[in-house]
Amino acid sequence: MKLNELALAELTEKLARREVSSREVTQACLDQIRRLDDRLRAFLHVNAEDALAQADAADRALATGATHAQQPLLGVPVALKDIIAVKGQPLTCASKILGNFVSPYDATVTEKLRAAGAVLLGRLNLDEFAMGSSTENSAFGATRNPWDLTRIPGGSSGGSAAAVAAHEIIAALGSDTGGSVRQPAALCGCVGLKPTYGRVSRYGLVAFASSLDQIGPLTKTVRDAAVLLRVIAGHDPRDATSVPEPVPDYAAALEGDLRGLRIGLAREYMVGGLDAEVKAAVDAAVAHLAKLGAEIVEVSLQHTEFAVATYYIIATAEASANLARFDGVRYGLRVEGGDPTEMYCRTRGAGFGPEVKRRIILGTYVLSSGYYDAYYLRAQKVRTLIRRDFLEAFQKVDAIVTPTSPTAAFRLGEKTEDPLQMYLSDIYTISCNLAGICGISVPCGLTRAPRLPIGLQLLGKPFGEATLLKIAHAYEQTTPWHREHPPAVTA
Ligand code: GLN
Repeated sequence: MKLNELALAELTEKLARREVSSREVTQACLDQIRRLDDRLRAFLHVNAEDALAQADAADRALATGATHAQQPLLGVPVALKDIIAVKGQPLTCASKILGNFVSPYDATVTEKLRAAGAVLLGRLNLDEFAMGSSTENSAFGATRNPWDLTRIPGGSSGGSAAAVAAHEIIAALGSDTGGSVRQPAALCGCVGLKPTYGRVSRYGLVAFASSLDQIGPLTKTVRDAAVLLRVIAGHDPRDATSVPEPVPDYAAALEGDLRGLRIGLAREYMVGGLDAEVKAAVDAAVAHLAKLGAEIVEVSLQHTEFAVATYYIIATAEASANLARFDGVRYGLRVEGGDPTEMYCRTRGAGFGPEVKRRIILGTYVLSSGYYDAYYLRAQKVRTLIRRDFLEAFQKVDAIVTPTSPTAAFRLGEKTEDPLQMYLSDIYTISCNLAGICGISVPCGLTRAPRLPIGLQLLGKPFGEATLLKIAHAYEQTTPWHREHPPAVTA
């Protein structure tokens, strides 16, 4: 096995025993990127020289007695979605409007990764400002799915998922506003976790929809997600929405069987446009969870059918406000012309892509006088009902199991002409963000021809990440799916 193919937890053991060096594994990742990434396009920027210098520093620290107990990521190459600030690195959000922008500061999660000893290797592709489900909305070209280069990797953290699945990087961070960590993880066959709203600081995450955004890990295994979450979680005075809830040792809580746990099966989720192979894989996974000792209980999330509409009112409203700051004055691109209003129009007209413009227009409309009550206010009320459905269900169960995505990876271009079809690919992930709860996607099967990953989603109570990770780990360790890798990339 090549060094870049190791999972994070395996790698840190080898680094601790000094069997491998951080420089060797960083170089192995860089080699894989060089070999694959002109076809995959997961990276927008590779920080090769600086990464090797960080790796050498980690090797020196390891040589002089630093441990992974103190610094859990010491020497581990990771990469961040290009919407999370890394000082001195590009921060483009895959948008032309920030095409030349370099971040003057580190996000809180970036500081935490550095303090934990991680090697920051580069910037990962995404849908422009995280708006999309396929990474086709990147202004710098779509990322491909490593299982089939004619297909999308999911989105919006498609670069993060593809890079992890293709072993270009050991682990990555993405952001999840309506599914953007979990859905690409499902479509690329890796693990993706969206923490509870408030669990992880968003200071330094470029805001899309502030009441929904969370940063989360994309990893090769559930254990790796547990390790990474512990590093990035916690209260931050610079993000008033982060919650001063203690951060448990998630990895220590993984062991143990599922006896005594109750897992809900949402009646409303197993219908409609669900692909037959995805349904069969999820049904088999539910049966497997029962075999592991969990009690399966049917629950009802009655307002599910309104989730997509509610999300696209709230998310676009918040986006229209958040993106007002890109005006040619303070950041990035500026297209000169006439008076200031003309300059704003030209800058925003040239800088934003079509999907971002569509969302700004929709969001401005639903907030405008005369429509606010009919759309925005009503959506907020429905959001409360959706949250209530979950809190009621969690009186009866410890977690809820669903598919992550209604289909496996679709073809590039297949849904770009039809935004509504694209929006429907988030039907199972969006409610989690509206309710502010946590969710994880873990591989649960492969379609037959072509062989494409299928994801199982587990949804948990607010701050119930430890329970989700435990269930996902028990499932993963007794099924073969996490050992399957995209054929072309391990050859
Ligand atoms: N696909 C959803 C959207 O387009 C979710 C994106 C996200 O989670 N960032 O808004």
